[in-house]
Amino acid sequence: MSTDTYDQKWHTELEATLTHEFEAHTARLTQLTADTGDPAEAHTNAALIVATRQNLERISGALRRLAAGTYGNCEKCGTAIPRERLEILPHARFCVPCQQKHNG
Ligand SMILES: [Zn+2]
Repeated sequence: MSTDTYDQKWHTELEATLTHEFEAHTARLTQLTADTGDPAEAHTNAALIVATRQNLERISGALRRLAAGTYGNCEKCGTAIPRERLEILPHARFCVPCQQKHNG
């Protein structure tokens, strides 16, 4: 099965992309949490800090799954998540039906 090599290559690229994203978000978080002494700015930043932390969690979760070899499997039902979905949403943890149940 040549798809194994193909997936391996894809995972390696994905890991590089996610690592890069992780670093970018970490740098952003450092900037956001730096105390500028401006209360108005601190207030605006608070929402961004929450969003950035959530992104970091998603990215580190995907990196953990890549390292563990469970990347691309739905965390609820274990089904392989279609690659097209993962290419759009690299941090996806659930397949589409489970995600819909999760949301609804
Ligand atoms: Zn599922």
